[in-house]
Amino acid sequence: MNTALRKTVIAGNWKMNNTPSETKAMIAELRPLVADATCDVVLCVPYVDVFAAVEAAAGSNIKIGVENIHWAEKGAYTGEISAKMLAETGAEYVIVGHSERRQYFNETDKTVNLRTKAALAGGFKVILCVGETLDQRRSGYTFEVVRHQTAMALTGVSADELKNVIIAYEPVWAIGTGETATDEQANEVNCYIRKVLADLYCENCANATTIQYGGSMNAGNAAGLLAQPDVDGGLIGGASLKPVDFSVIVKAGSAE
Ligand code: PEP
Repeated sequence: MNTALRKTVIAGNWKMNNTPSETKAMIAELRPLVADATCDVVLCVPYVDVFAAVEAAAGSNIKIGVENIHWAEKGAYTGEISAKMLAETGAEYVIVGHSERRQYFNETDKTVNLRTKAALAGGFKVILCVGETLDQRRSGYTFEVVRHQTAMALTGVSADELKNVIIAYEPVWAIGTGETATDEQANEVNCYIRKVLADLYCENCANATTIQYGGSMNAGNAAGLLAQPDVDGGLIGGASLKPVDFSVIVKAGSAE
């Protein structure tokens, strides 16, 4: 983390977990545990839980986000949700390009770009996920993959809009597998993504952008990962479903 230059953001990705009533109970438990955090605390929840989450987090330092967004304002897109619809919920963040969407739901670099632009135009903060598969890492393509995904997703996004973008480096091989990138691996790729942002925008823009690491971050390994100079937070799946564990990660993200 480099808190002098950029915000540390610890965000949970609940994926397809928790009912509205479970949402209320979980946030009620989490609130006091993270009340003195100095980093930003975000929970990205399923659409059906958004109103419950916003209500349960009201008056606390926990911000609510969702896990996807469609690019059209409205229309015949069964099962999708637009920025205009989300605007009335109180959600502030949107995850875009998560590898599970890329893997299981045919998300492409093109649709990630459309979703990113729609979310930004709608006034949301975007958590943009990029990361290589195990095969790509073994073949030596990690840097090429994250450069390509980052550049494609940010096509048409202005330097001013970039201020509302958080990049989450999430190696696919580390998501939900219990296999975490080492502190050095995470920092190396985050540092490279910052170089990509400097090439696409400017040095100052890159230095001001929060770049998280995600992939089996947990209460035991968070402090080491977050101590790295280019790891400005975490996107946390499994451990975000356990309030005490998540609060330990938030505490690590609040260390100076
Ligand atoms: C994620 O869903 O973005 C994630 C990193 O999951 P996990 O922490 O469970 O690996």
